[in-house]
Amino acid sequence: MQENFSFFNPVRISFGKGILKNVGKIARKYSNNALIVTGKSSMQRSGVLQKLLDILKAEGVGSTVYSGITPNPTCIEIDEAAKMAKDFKTGLIIGLGGGSPLDSAKAVAVAAKGDIPVWDYLKVKAKEALPVITIVSTSGTGSEVNRYSVMTNPATKEKPGFGYECMYPKEAIIDPEIMISMPKYVTASTGFDIFVHVLEAFTGKMKNAFSSAYCMQAFYLLKDNLINAYNEPQNLDARGNMALASALAGLAIDLSGTGIIHALEHPVSGNYPNIAHGAGLAALTVASLRYNISGCKRDFMLIAHHLGIKRAGKTDDEYAYSLIEKTQEILKAIDLNMSLKDLGVEKEALGKIAKEAFATMGFAVQNNPEEIDEKEALKLLELSY
Ligand code: NDP
Ligand code: MN
Repeated sequence: MQENFSFFNPVRISFGKGILKNVGKIARKYSNNALIVTGKSSMQRSGVLQKLLDILKAEGVGSTVYSGITPNPTCIEIDEAAKMAKDFKTGLIIGLGGGSPLDSAKAVAVAAKGDIPVWDYLKVKAKEALPVITIVSTSGTGSEVNRYSVMTNPATKEKPGFGYECMYPKEAIIDPEIMISMPKYVTASTGFDIFVHVLEAFTGKMKNAFSSAYCMQAFYLLKDNLINAYNEPQNLDARGNMALASALAGLAIDLSGTGIIHALEHPVSGNYPNIAHGAGLAALTVASLRYNISGCKRDFMLIAHHLGIKRAGKTDDEYAYSLIEKTQEILKAIDLNMSLKDLGVEKEALGKIAKEAFATMGFAVQNNPEEIDEKEALKLLELSY
């Protein structure tokens, strides 16, 4: 029986090659004074930040830049940026970059409206936020279209996510030309993040007809384009299709959440901020799929179908299992076939990671299709080591 749900997404999504040029007019609808929240180097190096500054200026939108967001961003960075937004009395936050700057932009929009540190919003519900425009530069998190923000507390290494209705971006600008500069490792790790979003949203307890529709189209797009975008970084069509898959998957997790793979990954990259989120997921996925397969046979078969795997003479069990083999194939093709050990996680940290998954990512644990306790989660971490 389908669980009850409601469906709401207020984000205006604009997609297309070269549409960055429209952002001046779009920004002006909201404010003539924006804070741009971005990372330390990629958008500077590719010239996109300068282009954005010029476009805003030409439309008479003043701007200030906060460029201190690190991958797996901290609450300290977000508080710093929120202080800037207050000091400069900005009426609009523009997130520019991958999931880290975009998640941060949404959190900054909340913190700039209040007078408590952003970390406190894990407990205190935020009711208002400055308007946010997301300009996405990776194809992975789906942060461009959803309300979630993930931040790390550097003192405790906790890495929870949070998201309130006021945190939906007003506008998402998805311009595949901005993604061309992604290095191969970033293409692979962010692209695999999409794959896990749709795996988890499609099989989780909170799945519903709408999220499943998004997932199916995302699987179909991932089928050819994940590996093509990896092998041909300049292929704008592959980049565009990956960007669409990212947005579809972002909408799917907004509706239906993630599962044990994300629950375990957050404490991995929380404790080891040098590990890319998608690489952490890659290490955890195969063992987690094996854990989940018995209760998800039909879903796994459907996913196998959408990934273009031939049924031939396979039994149901074999066809469901072919999803796991396909996942291993994809990981090899994009050079992400790595264990937690390969990524630099220490064996002694596994117990702490399992504990934190339950303490900070309980929502995702509960959404996992199979029940799982801390001991079983530790076992999954050991199998992924
Ligand atoms: P990041 O935003 O962390 O970016 C990863 C790296 O890629 C950075 O070094 C960045 O450089 C660089 N980079 C980004 N875009 C480009 C580009 N076009 N060209 C060259 N280099 C580029 O990666 P993700 O997008 O994977 O975001 C990860 C974060 O998002 C994690 O904190 C994760 O937990 C979170 N997340 C959020 C979700 C949500 O629903 N909101 C869902 C899943 C994950 P620089 O730092 O210089 O910009
Ligand atoms: Mn993710």
